[in-house]
Amino acid sequence: MASDLGPRAMFVAGGTDLFPKLKRRQFEVDALIGLDFLPHAIHRGENETVVDAGVTLSSASANAELRAAYGGYAEAAGVVSSPPLRNAGTIGGNLCVDTRCNYYDMTYEWRKAAGFCMKKDGDICLVAPSSSRCWAVSSSDTAPVAIALGALVTLAGPDVDRELPVAALYRDDGIDYLSKQPNEVVTSLRLPPADGIRTAYVKLRRRGSIDFPIAGAAVALRLDGFTVTGCRIVLSAVASYPLEVAEAGEFMVGKRIDDESVRAAAEIAAKPAKPLDNADLSHFWRKRMVRVVVEQALKKANDQ
Ligand SMILES: Cc1cc2nc3c(=O)[nH]c(=O)nc-3n(C[C@H](O)[C@H](O)[C@H](O)COP(=O)(O)OP(=O)(O)OC[C@H]3O[C@@H](n4cnc5c(N)ncnc54)[C@H](O)[C@@H]3O)c2cc1C
Ligand code: SF4
Repeated sequence: MASDLGPRAMFVAGGTDLFPKLKRRQFEVDALIGLDFLPHAIHRGENETVVDAGVTLSSASANAELRAAYGGYAEAAGVVSSPPLRNAGTIGGNLCVDTRCNYYDMTYEWRKAAGFCMKKDGDICLVAPSSSRCWAVSSSDTAPVAIALGALVTLAGPDVDRELPVAALYRDDGIDYLSKQPNEVVTSLRLPPADGIRTAYVKLRRRGSIDFPIAGAAVALRLDGFTVTGCRIVLSAVASYPLEVAEAGEFMVGKRIDDESVRAAAEIAAKPAKPLDNADLSHFWRKRMVRVVVEQALKKANDQ
């Protein structure tokens, strides 16, 4: 159906992001293709854990096995928006959720009064008018943890099914933010063996519920005794894609988690984060807070 209908159709899973955007005419389509048929179970195998795309955020956050083995992932699912939306919103929808911007996530009338922007109905960027690209912000809470874990995403297309690292699902572009084809469905997320990995997610937002992240840090840590043997740090909401700060992760390898190492890693992690003035609160403050969320996430992962 998606191939036949092309850009005039969209998939809908929980609809928690899609329906408000249809109402605000950010998306204008003739048809919605319901994904209710997608499986929605969590399978714990010997070598991996598979989370079907149709699993709700509430189920993922409450799942005892996910909480025990991939605590940061379950935690990220549990801090998305609010309980009613988590009961309907899905893991697949959270991976594919649209990028956000204060000039775009507005009613049609507001956007019209502002002159529209290139993400919808216009041709300039209202945040960075001299820029030829859109800087809308990647705002998925679960994607950064999935990337830190080295998870894979499974896609079903009209001809073939394929699998790719979650990181490869994203592009550094506020408009074309997904690398998958529009007619490909996300069917599952494959988490590698936990094998002692410690994960954490720290999210910054104005209110403790409902709000999207305005900065966040996901950490996946491996330790041998007190020494870090592996560390991946991925930032949310500071770029148009979940931003892995590999240099900061590599810096931690061979070190102990203490105030000094964590502070130095957080300094490195904050450098590539360049939030613009298109999300809640001041972007200068958000930039400063990246250090803080990284420090907190590293310590939290270590304490697990
Ligand atoms: C008030 C409010 C607050 C929110 N706060 C947060 C937040 O804090 N953090 C956060 O991450 N999100 C937040 N969201 C967004 C949203 O609720 C979640 O991201 C949710 O996980 C989306 O899942 P869904 O199943 O409802 O997706 P839908 O709304 O159904 O779809 C979202 C997008 O993904 C596509 N899609 C859905 N499933 C698939 C699939 N399996 N394969 C291919 N494409 C698919 C749809 O076509 C659409 O483009 C918020 C939304 C609202 C309205
Ligand atoms: S970053 Fe610019 S182009 Fe993108 S949604 Fe915001 S104002 Fe529009």
